[in-house]
Amino acid sequence: MTIAENLRQVKARMAQAAQRAQRAPDEITLVAVSKTKPLSLIAETAAAGQVDFGENRLEELCQKADAAAQSGLNGIRWHAIGTIQSRKAKLALRAAAAQPASGQLCLIHAVDRPKIAQRLSRLAAQSNLSLDVLLEVNVSGELSKHGFSPASLLTALPSLLDLPALRYRGLMTMAPFVPDAEQVRPCFRRLRRLLDDLRHEFPSDKHPQATWQHLSMGMTNDFEVAIEEGATIVRVGTAIFGHREYE
Ligand SMILES: *Cc1c(COP(=O)(O)O)cnc(C)c1O
Repeated sequence: MTIAENLRQVKARMAQAAQRAQRAPDEITLVAVSKTKPLSLIAETAAAGQVDFGENRLEELCQKADAAAQSGLNGIRWHAIGTIQSRKAKLALRAAAAQPASGQLCLIHAVDRPKIAQRLSRLAAQSNLSLDVLLEVNVSGELSKHGFSPASLLTALPSLLDLPALRYRGLMTMAPFVPDAEQVRPCFRRLRRLLDDLRHEFPSDKHPQATWQHLSMGMTNDFEVAIEEGATIVRVGTAIFGHREYE
């Protein structure tokens, strides 16, 4: 199977899931997760019409964004989907400040603790930039997962909303890996309810830096269920690029 064919199939499955939920397919953005994959495959995927790419390590994102720009591969929207270590936060600013024409960091999906929010905001303010972020929530309560618990997020939000250089676009979650995607439906539903709560408690008309439009949830194993439960962004790697040899 070629990448173009994989991409076509993923999009068809996305459209069918959207239809089942009576949603418009174009409300849902596919992020092609290209971590560990070479630029040549990103170029092939871009040639098949894909614009949004996700990387979980910021070094890799910056390297690929630079290499893409040098090779004339323009217009990619990059998504930082992984946990950000404090000492790597500067790289997010580097990626966000790249030339828009050659591609640029457009969304940070995994702000998972107050400390990293504070650091990103401080660095962004120093560069006169604002960063678009999602807050990562651990809805399953699995200990191995990063993210705010729903309760800790509600407690942290007033001070998060005081940070000057972050724009809160919505929520993200990583569901537990299970053989049957139906088992994670309650996680996705919980994230969606939490977003509804936030829209109500911290409305955009009072907090213009919080637009709360996105739910980033669903990966190769469970993106259809996530779309049925309201995902606006799905992050799909394996179904597009095949299995990864390492993480
Ligand atoms: C790797 C990764 C994905 C994609 O996983 P697949 O199962 O290959 O689709 C999605 N989100 C995050 C945060 C990831 O690290």
